[in-house]
Amino acid sequence: MDISIVIPLFNEDESLSELTAWIEKVVQTHQLSYEIIFIDDGSTDQSWSVIEKLRNDNSNVKAIKFQRNYGKSAALNEGFKAAEGDVIITMDADMQDSPDEIPALRNMLLEGNYDIVSGWKKKRYDNTLTKNIPSKLFNAAARGMSKIKLNDFNCGLKAYKSKVVKSIEVYGEMHRYVPVLAKWAGFDHIGEKVVEHRARKYGVTKFGWSRFINGFLDLMTIFFVGKFGKRPMHFFGLWGTFAFILGLGIFCYLSISKLFFDVTGMTQRPLFFFAILAMIMGTQLFLAGFIGELITRNSSERNNYLIEKKAGL
Ligand code: UDP
Ligand code: MG
Repeated sequence: MDISIVIPLFNEDESLSELTAWIEKVVQTHQLSYEIIFIDDGSTDQSWSVIEKLRNDNSNVKAIKFQRNYGKSAALNEGFKAAEGDVIITMDADMQDSPDEIPALRNMLLEGNYDIVSGWKKKRYDNTLTKNIPSKLFNAAARGMSKIKLNDFNCGLKAYKSKVVKSIEVYGEMHRYVPVLAKWAGFDHIGEKVVEHRARKYGVTKFGWSRFINGFLDLMTIFFVGKFGKRPMHFFGLWGTFAFILGLGIFCYLSISKLFFDVTGMTQRPLFFFAILAMIMGTQLFLAGFIGELITRNSSERNNYLIEKKAGL
C-alpha cells in the first residue's frame, strides 16, 4: 500500500465527509493505493456515526474509537500502530491542513530519502496571540534542545517512512515533538516543506492555554528522557556529588576556622547553612540518580535497540 493517512479527531463531525471526499479525489488523481485511518479520540458529537457512513461507502476508510478522550498523542500512537502503508501521512481533521499537499510530501520523502518530511505553516491562519507567540517560543526551544532544524515542529501535516512510526511511542503531549522522538530513535534525516495552512472551517480549537504549560513540560521531559533516560546517574550523580563535595568543603573550612583559629559564631554564618543545604541536596540528587538507575535496570525497555540491518542471521 502506498500511503496511510492517519487522522486524529475529537468532535469534528462537520469536517469529516468533506475531508474524506477531498482526500479521495487527490489520491485517485495520483493513482495511489491508500487507507484513511480515523482515530476518534472519544468524541461526544456525531463524529463516529459519520465515520461509519464513510466506511460503508469506501472500504479504504478505517477507524478506531477511544472509550474516552485520551489526547492527540494517544490517537496518533494508535494510528501509527494500525497503519499499513509504506508512507504514513498525518493530518488534522479540521481541514486546516490541505490534502492537496499529500502527493508532494510523499514525493519529497521518497525522492530525498527522508525519514520524515514535516509541514511548515509558514503563513498561519490562527488567532495570533494564543497560538503564534507560544508556537514561536516552543519552536525555538525545541530547535535549541534537539538540534533539529525545523521551523514548525507542531504542524499536524507530516509524512513518515513506515519504519519510523513503528519505532516510536507518542504519549502525553508528545505529538508536538514527534521529530524529536524520531531523532532519538536514530531517524535524523528530517526535511521540511512549506504547506498551505487554512483557517478552521468548522468547530473550535481543542487546545487552550494548557498548550503553554504542557508543551513546555513535555519539552523538558523529552530532553531529559532522551539525554539521560537510560543513564540517570550521569545527571543526578554528577550534580549530587558536586553539591555534596562543595558543602563538605565549606563545612571543613568552617570547622577548621573554629577549631584552630578561634573564629566564633560558626552557626550564625550564612555559609554554614549553605554548606548544610548543599550536602543535603547532594545526597538527595545522588539518591534520585541511584533510584533512577535501579528503575531503568528493571525496565522492560532496557535492551530495546533498533536494529537497522542484519547479515547472515
Ligand atoms: N485532537 C484530538 N484529541 C484531542 C484534541 C485534538 O484528536 O484531545 C485533534 C483535533 O480533532 C484535530 C487535531 O487534533 O484534528 C488538531 O487539533 P486542533 O485543530 O484543535 O489544534 P490547533 O489546530 O488549534 O492547534
Ligand atoms: Mg486545527
